[in-house]
Amino acid sequence: MGLSGLLDVIFPPSCVACGAVLPAPGHFCEACQPEVERLPRRCCPRCSEPGEFQGGCPRCLARPPAFCRAFAPFTHQGAVARAIHRFKYEDHPELARPLAELLAGFAADFLEGAPRLVAAIPLHERRFRARKYDQAMLLAVELSKRVDGGAARELLVRTKDTGRQVGLSDQAREANVAGAFAAVGSAAGLSVLLLDDVLTTGATARAAASALLDAGAREVQVLTLARADLLSL
Ligand SMILES: [Zn+2]
Ligand SMILES: [Zn+2]
Repeated sequence: MGLSGLLDVIFPPSCVACGAVLPAPGHFCEACQPEVERLPRRCCPRCSEPGEFQGGCPRCLARPPAFCRAFAPFTHQGAVARAIHRFKYEDHPELARPLAELLAGFAADFLEGAPRLVAAIPLHERRFRARKYDQAMLLAVELSKRVDGGAARELLVRTKDTGRQVGLSDQAREANVAGAFAAVGSAAGLSVLLLDDVLTTGATARAAASALLDAGAREVQVLTLARADLLSL
C-alpha cells in the first residue's frame, strides 16, 4: 500500500464541511456540495472583492495594497465557511490536505501566474500555542506540494496578537493589524505567494505583504480559500 492508500485508511475520504464519510474520493458530501459558492467572475482585479469595478474597487484605488493581486476561489459562506471553521477552530489539522487539493484545483488559473514560493500569513505565537497548529502554515506546505516547483518557507512572524477582526470597520482593521508582522530575515528579491484561509477587507494581507516588501521582496501575491462577502459586514 502506498502512502496515499495508507492515509485513506487512517483518514477515509470525508466531507470537509461536515465530516460525513464519502463513498468515493471527493471533498463535499451530496448535502454540502450545492452550498459551495464560487467567487463571482466580476470582481476587483486587485483584491477580488466581488462587484463590477472600473480599474479596481474603491479601497484599492484609494490606497493600493502592497500585494499586486489577491484571489480566492470560493466565497466565505455555506459549506466552505463550515469547512474553514472546522479546520481552524475544531481541531482538524488533517483538513489541510483536502483543502489544499481544492485550492490547487479551483485556483489553477491564478496559480499559473503566481510565485512558486509559498508562505503563510502566520498566527501569533500565543494563538499557535492554544490551537497547537497554524492552519495557514499547514495549508502553505500542502499547497506547495501541489504546485510545479513549489516550496514553502516561513518568511513572517506575527509580532502583535491582534485578536479577531470580526465587527471592526475598515479603518479599525487597518489600525489593528498595522505593524503586526515582521519578516524572518531578508526577503531580498523574492516573489512570494502569501497564503491564508479567508480574505475579508484584506487589511491583514496588506500588513503581511508590507512587511515582506519592507524586507526587500520584489512581489507579493495573495491566495486564500475564501473571500468574505463585504456586503455582509
Ligand atoms: Zn457534508
Ligand atoms: Zn480591490
